[in-house]
Amino acid sequence: MTYYDQHLHTYHSFDSSETFENYLARSPKVLVTTEHLDFKNPWDNFEDSMPNYADYAAEVDRLNAQQDIPILKGIEIGFVPEHWPLIQNYLAGHDYDVQLLSVHQNGEYDFMDDIVLTLEPETLIKDYYTRLLEAIKTVDPANIMTHFDYGVRRLTLDVETFKHYAEPYLIPVFKAAINKELAFELNAKSFVSYHNQALYEYAVPLYLSLGGKLFSLGSDAHRAEDYELGYDQMKHFLKGFGINELATYQQGKLRLVRF
Ligand SMILES: [Zn+2]
Ligand SMILES: [Zn+2]
Repeated sequence: MTYYDQHLHTYHSFDSSETFENYLARSPKVLVTTEHLDFKNPWDNFEDSMPNYADYAAEVDRLNAQQDIPILKGIEIGFVPEHWPLIQNYLAGHDYDVQLLSVHQNGEYDFMDDIVLTLEPETLIKDYYTRLLEAIKTVDPANIMTHFDYGVRRLTLDVETFKHYAEPYLIPVFKAAINKELAFELNAKSFVSYHNQALYEYAVPLYLSLGGKLFSLGSDAHRAEDYELGYDQMKHFLKGFGINELATYQQGKLRLVRF
């Protein structure tokens, strides 16, 4: 088993129009899509962004019967505390191989909306990481903590400033993630597209120092061209910390693979 991309979207997500077939054309060893579940989504006119599970599962089954690349099922859970009953209700009876855990919004705005540029970084950081901690403590099962820097993607903070404001929140966040055996995702949108490698250079050793061991790589692709975006760079980065295994999940079960 080799590693494969564990964070990508198709047209089953509100913000992608990509097809399974275009990802399959990239010849992945295994394909897993992780579709958005975001209730009352500010980026979707406060509509409920959720995949139609029956359609999704039927398409995965059909493609698995038609061709040889195994296709797994995944979901990216966007957590808001008030939505937890809706999230639980949606997940009940749905089978996923991997469940990503994300915080995208706070009930009023998405953390990548322009409005965050008008907030004090201290206020934004407190809100985002308090929510991330609650997400980790609440959502079970979840397998991977995605894009830990999502809440500050729009800011241009140097590492010292980020550390100053965020570390009091990040330590409990990482401890909770370790306690819940969530893998730490290196997110290519953050790492490459939003130029936040420096934040990962600070956060990965912090996570390791607290006992963190599990890592995942996610392109967060919304189109097939971005499949495994940034993988060479992110693998090289992890090897620099002596990490040579990545966490994969099939039917929710952890399987470590060397890379
Ligand atoms: Zn996300
Ligand atoms: Zn995503």
